[in-house]
Amino acid sequence: MRKLVLLGAVAAIAWPIASLAAAPAGSITTPKEALGHELGEDYFLANYSQLESYWKTLAAQSDRAKLVEIGKTAEGRPQYMMIVSSPENMKRLDHYKAIAARLAKADGLSAEEAHKLAREGKTVVWIDGGLHASEVEPAQALMLAVYKALTDKDPEWMRLLDDNIILFAQDNPDGQELVANWYMRNPDPLKRVGGVSTVPDPLAATPQLYHKYIGHDNNRDFYMSAQPESTNINRVIFREWFPQIIYNHHQTGPTGAVVFMPPFRDPFNYTYDPLIMTELSEAGAAMHSRLVAEDKPGSTMRSGAAYSTWFNGSLRTISYFHNSIGILTEIIGNPTPMPLPMVPKSQLPHNDLPMPVAPQTWHFSQSIDYSMSMNRSLLDYASRNRERLLFNIYKMGADSIRRGSEDSWTVTSHDIDNLEAAAKGKKPPVSGGVDPALFQTVLRDPTKRDPRGYILSADQPDFPTAVKFLNTLIKTGVTVQKATADFSVGGKTYPAGSYVVLTAQAYRPHVLDMFEPQDHPQDLEYPGGPPVRPYDTTGYTLAYQMGVKFDRVLEGFSGPFQRVNDLISPTPAKVVGAGRGGWLVSHEINDAFVVTNRLMKAKLPAYWVDGPTSVAGHDIGRGALWIPASPRAKAIVDKAAAELGVTAYAVDRAPDGKLTALKAPRIALVDVYGGSMPSGWTRWLMEQFEFPFTVVYPQRLDAGALRKDFDVVLLPDGLGIPSHGQKQARRGPGQPKAEDIPAQYRGWLGSVTADKTAPQLAAFLKAGGTVIAVGDSTGVAEMLKAPVGDPLVETVDGKTKPLPNTKFYIPGSVLQADVNQDNPLAYGVPPKVALFFDSSPMFQIKADFKDVRPVATFTSETPLMSGWAFGQKYLKGANAIVDACFDGGHLFLMGPEVNQRAQSHAAFKFLFNGLYYGPASRACR
Ligand SMILES: [Zn+2]
Repeated sequence: MRKLVLLGAVAAIAWPIASLAAAPAGSITTPKEALGHELGEDYFLANYSQLESYWKTLAAQSDRAKLVEIGKTAEGRPQYMMIVSSPENMKRLDHYKAIAARLAKADGLSAEEAHKLAREGKTVVWIDGGLHASEVEPAQALMLAVYKALTDKDPEWMRLLDDNIILFAQDNPDGQELVANWYMRNPDPLKRVGGVSTVPDPLAATPQLYHKYIGHDNNRDFYMSAQPESTNINRVIFREWFPQIIYNHHQTGPTGAVVFMPPFRDPFNYTYDPLIMTELSEAGAAMHSRLVAEDKPGSTMRSGAAYSTWFNGSLRTISYFHNSIGILTEIIGNPTPMPLPMVPKSQLPHNDLPMPVAPQTWHFSQSIDYSMSMNRSLLDYASRNRERLLFNIYKMGADSIRRGSEDSWTVTSHDIDNLEAAAKGKKPPVSGGVDPALFQTVLRDPTKRDPRGYILSADQPDFPTAVKFLNTLIKTGVTVQKATADFSVGGKTYPAGSYVVLTAQAYRPHVLDMFEPQDHPQDLEYPGGPPVRPYDTTGYTLAYQMGVKFDRVLEGFSGPFQRVNDLISPTPAKVVGAGRGGWLVSHEINDAFVVTNRLMKAKLPAYWVDGPTSVAGHDIGRGALWIPASPRAKAIVDKAAAELGVTAYAVDRAPDGKLTALKAPRIALVDVYGGSMPSGWTRWLMEQFEFPFTVVYPQRLDAGALRKDFDVVLLPDGLGIPSHGQKQARRGPGQPKAEDIPAQYRGWLGSVTADKTAPQLAAFLKAGGTVIAVGDSTGVAEMLKAPVGDPLVETVDGKTKPLPNTKFYIPGSVLQADVNQDNPLAYGVPPKVALFFDSSPMFQIKADFKDVRPVATFTSETPLMSGWAFGQKYLKGANAIVDACFDGGHLFLMGPEVNQRAQSHAAFKFLFNGLYYGPASRACR
C-alpha cells in the first residue's frame, strides 16, 4: 500500500482530512485523493505546501516523472520542477539534455552533425504556472497538467511523451502559498474572494506583495536576474536544459474573450533572428486551431491585447533573445464563479478572434480544461516538428555566431528614416522604390556595423559594479571571457583581468540588447495621433543603466582570453600604500556604501571629504570616504578589499579640506497595504547594500513625532501619492474595511494624504528631518507647498495642465542628464549620468529660492540614450533631481526612478547619498 499523502501544515485552511484516501498499489494518487478536492473545483485553491507534497507522491509513483529542486525562493522554500517524458526517455535524460545544449550553443557544430543530433534528440518544452500568484489559474492548472501527464494513456499522449521532454515548473512558490491561504481563509466558501477578476474586489488582493520583494515585477526581472526565482529559472532554461519552447502561463484574458495567445502585435525587436518570430507564429496558430477544433471559443491574438515582443525582461520575451519560442497566454478564470461579459465588437469574428464566445457564468474548471488543451496543442506542435525545432535552434545559434564573426548590421526604424531622407528629392527609378544604391551607403554604412565584441576594462572607476553586470549576462547563459594578460585592441591597451564579451555566440541577440540602445519606433495610433502604450519599458540597455564603462569594437579581435564558466567573484582589490593615519575610498564605487554601513554598524567614525581628492596619483573624485585608522576599521577595510573588490588607499594623515562626519541614519521606508513594488525593490536594494531601515505605513506617518524615531523618511515610487491637484490617487481596487481583514494587517491600511500626512512631514522637516521622494511620490512636494513647479505643462484657455501625450510621451526609457557634481547628493556620480525615465515628474525651481538646488538636469533637446522619447525636446532645462532646503530640513526630489527594479546602478548613489547627506548636513538649519 502507498503511504497516505501527508499535507504541509497550513493553519489557515481546514479541510476534511478523513476524506483523503490512499491510492491503491501501482496506481497514481488523484488530485481528489491528495487534496480532498478536484483541481479546478469552484471555491478551492491548493497552496504550494500541497503542491510540494503531492508532487513528491507523484514522483515516487510514476516512471514518467522526476522531481527536481531548482533552487530556493526569496522566502527560502524549495522551488520544484517536475520533468516528465516517456519511461524510456527518462532513463536517458542526461543524454537528451546534452543534445539540447550542443544544438542551442551551436559552437563548433557543423550543419551535418546538427542534423544528426536533431534526428536523435527530443524536443524540450518548459511549461510553468504561478509566476503571478494572484492570477490563480495557472498554478492550479499546472498541478492538474502534471497529474494528467503521468496518467493519460491515449495514443496522442503516448506520442507526445515519446517526442518531448517536458519541464513543468512552479515559478513563484511563495506566492502560491500566500494567495491560496488568503483565498481559503474564509471557512464559508461562498464568501471567498480572490484571484484576478473583471470585478475588482479590495478583499481579493493580499495585504502584501505575492513575491517577498517585487510582486508582479517578478516577470520584469529576467535579464537582471536579481531575485532567486528568476536566477533559478534562467539557469535551468539557458544554462542547463535549453528548451526550444518556453510556455509561460498568465491570467487574465481580454474582456469578452477567454484567452489571449500569440502571435503578438509589433514592434518586433530588431536584434532577433527572424526564424524565432516565424516559429512563434506557427506555434501560436497551432494552439488557436486546437481550441477551435475542440469547440472551445474565445481565443484572441495580436490586436486582441497590448502584448508585443519588444521588451527583454519577462520570462517569455527573454526567450526570443535566446532563440527559444516564448509563449505567453492570458486566460480568464476564478475559483469564485465569474461573469464572462458580452462586448459587442468581440461578437464579430475576425482574424485576431476567429471564434467569439457567448456571455455566460464562467467556472474555474472551464479555464483549467482550456489550459490542458493549450498545453497539449503546444506539445503536439513540438512533437510534429521535433526534428525541425531542434535543427532550427542550432541554425539560429550558428547564424548568430556567423553574424558576430563578420560585418553585420541591425536595421532600426531610424535607419529607415535616414534612408527616406537620403532619397528625398531624387528621381525614383523606373522599377519603383528608391535608388537601390542607397542600400549600401545608408543601410550598410561601415560606421554603423554591429560590434564584434565589447571590452570592459578592469581599470574603470567602479569595477565591482561592472562585475555585477557581467554576472547578469552569465546568469542568462551568455559566454563571457577574461583576459589572462594585458592586451591591445584598436591601439588601446587593457590590463589583465579585464573582461570581453564577443558577439560571435548563439545568444548574440541578448548580448546586443544588453549593450546597445533599444531604438524603439514611433508607435502612434495614426499619424499625429496618440501613442500606443507599450507592453513595458521601451529602453532599458542594462550596461547604460548600470553605468558600466565599455568599448564597442567593430573589427574582429582576439587576445589572451579565457572563458569564464561560473559567476564571477569581484577581483580582490589592493589596499594601496602603507600610511598609518587611515584609508581613503573612492565615492565612485557603489560598494563603498557597504563599507560605510559596516563602519556605522560598528560605531566607527567615517567622513566624506568635501571636494575632489587625489591620492597616490589617482583622482578619486569628490566626496571620498575617509576612514580614520583603528584595528576594527582595518578589519572592515581589508574584508571589503578582499571580498567586494573595493580599493582603499592607506595614507598617513587625514586629507586637507572640509570633512563631513557621517552618522548612521535611522531610515523609515514607506510602504502601503497591498505592497508597492518600488518600495519592495528598495527594501531589497537596501538589504543588499546593508542599510538598516524600518518599514512604516501611512498610519505611522500620520501619528507624528517622526523626528523622535527617524532621520530620513523615504517615499519610493508607487505609494499612490496624489499630484497635479488630485485629491487622492487611486491604487488598484482600493482598500478593504479594517474589520474585514485579520487584525495583524489593519495597521497597514491608509494612504499618504495632504490633510493628515503632510503636516506631520512638515513638522519632521522643521525638526531637521530629511524627506526623500522618488518617482510619483515627489507629488509630496505639492502637498508640502515646496517651491518647485512642473515644467512639463502647457496653458490652454488660461488653464495650466500637463502636456498631452500627443506632444510628450516617454513611457520607460534611458535618458542622459547633466550632474552638478559639487552637490553632495551627486558625490561619486559622473558629470553625465543615465537616468531611467518613465513618465517621471520633473521640477522647475521657482524664482528667488536659492535654497533649492538642481542636482541633475536635462540640458539637451535630445537626451534619449535608449528607448522611445516622443517630444523629448520639452525636457530641455527640466530638473530631474533637486535638493531643497525647505522648512528647516532637506527635501530631496528624484523624479526618475533612481532605484528602478534594482537595475539603475548608475543612479543608486543619488538615493544612497541622500540617506547620509541629509542627516549629516547642517546646511538647512
Ligand atoms: Zn501575469
